[in-house]
Amino acid sequence: MDSSRKHIVLLPGDGIGPEIVQAGWQVLQWLDARFEFGLSSETHAVGGAAIAETGSPLPASTLEACKGATAVLLGAVGDPRYDNPQAEVRPEQGLLTLRQELQLFANIRPVKTSEGSLRWSPLKPERVEGVDLLIVRELTGGIYFGDRARGSDESGRWAQDTMRYSEGEIQRVARLAFSLARSRRKKLTSVDKANVLHSSRLWREVVTEVHKDFADITLEHQLVDSCAMRLIDDAQSMDVIVTSNMFGDILSDESAAIAGSLGLLPSASWGSAAPALYEPIHGSAPALAGKGLANPMATISSVSLMLRHSLNAAEQASALDRAVALTLDAGVCTPDLGGHSSTQEVVQVVLQQLEEVCA
Ligand code: NAD
Repeated sequence: MDSSRKHIVLLPGDGIGPEIVQAGWQVLQWLDARFEFGLSSETHAVGGAAIAETGSPLPASTLEACKGATAVLLGAVGDPRYDNPQAEVRPEQGLLTLRQELQLFANIRPVKTSEGSLRWSPLKPERVEGVDLLIVRELTGGIYFGDRARGSDESGRWAQDTMRYSEGEIQRVARLAFSLARSRRKKLTSVDKANVLHSSRLWREVVTEVHKDFADITLEHQLVDSCAMRLIDDAQSMDVIVTSNMFGDILSDESAAIAGSLGLLPSASWGSAAPALYEPIHGSAPALAGKGLANPMATISSVSLMLRHSLNAAEQASALDRAVALTLDAGVCTPDLGGHSSTQEVVQVVLQQLEEVCA
């Protein structure tokens, strides 16, 4: 590949994935035509779509393409045909393996409200006004990757999952979270369950040690249960949150209530080297698939994160953020936000707003 070119691998996945990835790619193409990034793309199957084609949720050709990409844009995985928990091969295995193979150890999820977005939150406006936080979730360790087992004995069936963290796994995600806090309001909340779990006690110890290299950052430790409460009644007091894989998974979906819809929240997954992976935080919403009802904003905002962090295009990222905000402020939105627009109608208005913002 020509090194000046920027190669994007598109992984639509399942359900609404193809519609929202198409929306994201349309925005990237528009920006490429205008600002000449030199983008190219190729599309590969992952999740249920890949199982249907090849029997594997992450075919070798998909993984190979991702490894050679500048960045990856993923829709979502999850297909009721294969979601049976007893099944040997399931769609989400494709995404978990991809994150692990690309060593994407941190998932970054910004949650920000704007004047126009307050009306979508189920929370009182005074609780969510001015929220601007960043959740940094450890992504390739912890209970989702630990040893697991099922069995049965004289007392009945049993099942077991293991939460294990090494010091190195905690250090690298903590360092990233402290660095991100340094470029923001310089506050880091480390979330754990240290009153009960050994793995959380190690988490707390290691984060405290890493803090010595980031003395300008204010560090606080918080238990995950009280953090869940604080996100609802005092999210304004938080800046950057760092936490383990499962706690981050749950807290970041909870924080979608602050923004009003899962369809609005983007994410980026980073490792020590390229490529990074960008995806909305929501799933494949199978009931909406193919109906033109999917909210494309979480994916379009994921493209904004890609522009800023993988394509060296911070100015265009800000322009896109502005175009998204103007579109939502104008009341152009899909039914999940109470609107009447289709996925493609929203995309067209975002592109029109971009035209004006970039004029
Ligand atoms: P989901 O996020 O797909 O849907 C939850 C609710 O939000 C549904 O009511 C859905 O209609 C709505 N919703 C989600 N995204 C939307 C969008 N862009 N526009 C409008 N409405 C939207 O979560 P779920 O229902 O728990 O899971 C469905 C499938 O997705 C499952 O197979 C699950 O395993 C999978 N999943 C995948 C990912 C991923 O790929 N990263 C994440 C979560 C769930």
